[in-house]
Amino acid sequence: MDKKFVYADNAATTKPSPKAIDAMLPFLYEEYGNPSSVYSLGMRAAKAILKARENVAAAIGARPQEIYFTSGGSEADNQALRSAALSGEKKGKRHIVTTAFEHHAVLRTCEYLQRRGFDVTYVKPDSRGLISPCDIEAALRDDTCLVSVMYANNEIGTIQPIEEIAGICKARGVLFHTDAVQAVGHIDIDVKKQGIDMLSLSGHKIFAPKGVGVLYAKSGTDISPLIFGGSQERGKRAGTENVAAIAALGAVIGDAVSGVSERTQRVRAMRDRLIDGILSSIPDTRLNGDRERRLDGNVNIAIDGIEGESLLLMLDMAGICASSGSACESASLDPSHVLKSIGLDEKRAKGSLRLTINELNSDEDIDYILEKLPEIVSRLRALR
Ligand SMILES: *Cc1c(COP(=O)(O)O)cnc(C)c1O
Repeated sequence: MDKKFVYADNAATTKPSPKAIDAMLPFLYEEYGNPSSVYSLGMRAAKAILKARENVAAAIGARPQEIYFTSGGSEADNQALRSAALSGEKKGKRHIVTTAFEHHAVLRTCEYLQRRGFDVTYVKPDSRGLISPCDIEAALRDDTCLVSVMYANNEIGTIQPIEEIAGICKARGVLFHTDAVQAVGHIDIDVKKQGIDMLSLSGHKIFAPKGVGVLYAKSGTDISPLIFGGSQERGKRAGTENVAAIAALGAVIGDAVSGVSERTQRVRAMRDRLIDGILSSIPDTRLNGDRERRLDGNVNIAIDGIEGESLLLMLDMAGICASSGSACESASLDPSHVLKSIGLDEKRAKGSLRLTINELNSDEDIDYILEKLPEIVSRLRALR
């Protein structure tokens, strides 16, 4: 049998679509003008950014002037939190509410703000990986300047009750931010209907290239720049724009957010076959995160008696790309803070496997994983 290649790590990054690449190429070749220049070469680049801004706004129910292009999801998260903190500080509000299983872009920014004298409450998810709106409400104080809760978790795929949480924040007059990097393209998002004040998204999780993202901030939100310099992005994000990547994001975001329910239904069927297949063919395995309130392509399974890193190496030898329950940052082998937050001990967290599939995967991919994984797990367990 020919060696197969199965990419099942779409929460880490997605394959840029041909449409994204086609949208980029002109700006890498002939249309290299600086969007701030007055001649037509520059104006064409500026026009491409304008078009992308309109497309992004339309995709999430925002207005173009509420869209700020950034270098990615991490920057958007940093800017949302630091803007809210600086703005809150002016009014004597130095308390932030977030959750224990946010992306590090949020958690590390919170830690930085704590060192600067802010108070942060980290609301814990329950054992299914769900945040209770009541717990958010109970954490609010008179000096709370921001609530930040991710839309869907990047490791266990659990989907949070964002609309309810946004409603609570609105009633209490507290700014609400959501990291929607994993949600865009998988859940219908309308920032106005859902009452979201700020939202982060990233290009490379939705078939655009790496190095471009978006901060949505409702008109009137006090946004401060992280990068000082020129007046790009209405003075909120200096630096000559990444025109090619922005154009690519603008070209693909419409497709990413349309037909969500049909597309996710097909992926969900593959996901369920994968979950059921693994749980039934490999003893001592369990699903991490709620089964129902879960992203269409997310599988995260604790496999007792194995080490995630060795599992990933053996899967790679079989041509399968996946992730484990160890923190991916700086090649450290700390157990995932997400899995710890839902109550897994260190061993079980490190022995967890994340497979994230999407519409580019096929039923044959699922068959192949279900053929290889049990063999590999038995081999690893036999080595103990
Ligand atoms: C990938 C990811 C980010 C970071 O986005 P980048 O564009 O890689 O900086 C932030 N939050 C979540 C939930 C993510 O999955």
